[in-house]
Amino acid sequence: MDCRDKANKSIGCTVSQCRHHCNVSNNCTLDKIEVGTHESNPTKVECTDCESFMPKD
Ligand code: SF4
Repeated sequence: MDCRDKANKSIGCTVSQCRHHCNVSNNCTLDKIEVGTHESNPTKVECTDCESFMPKD
């Protein structure tokens, strides 16, 4: 399925394992995402998470 019509060009993403990912253009298909952290004092990019991630079925 071509997801380009749903791709949000303001949210680039390469997490192809996510249900919301558009692999044609490497964008998220959601209008809005939540980004958070699993650290008490985040200092690196690795400390941040997309909390809108959902696994594929
Ligand atoms: S929800 Fe997060 S991880 Fe999933 S495609 Fe969108 S930006 Fe990427």
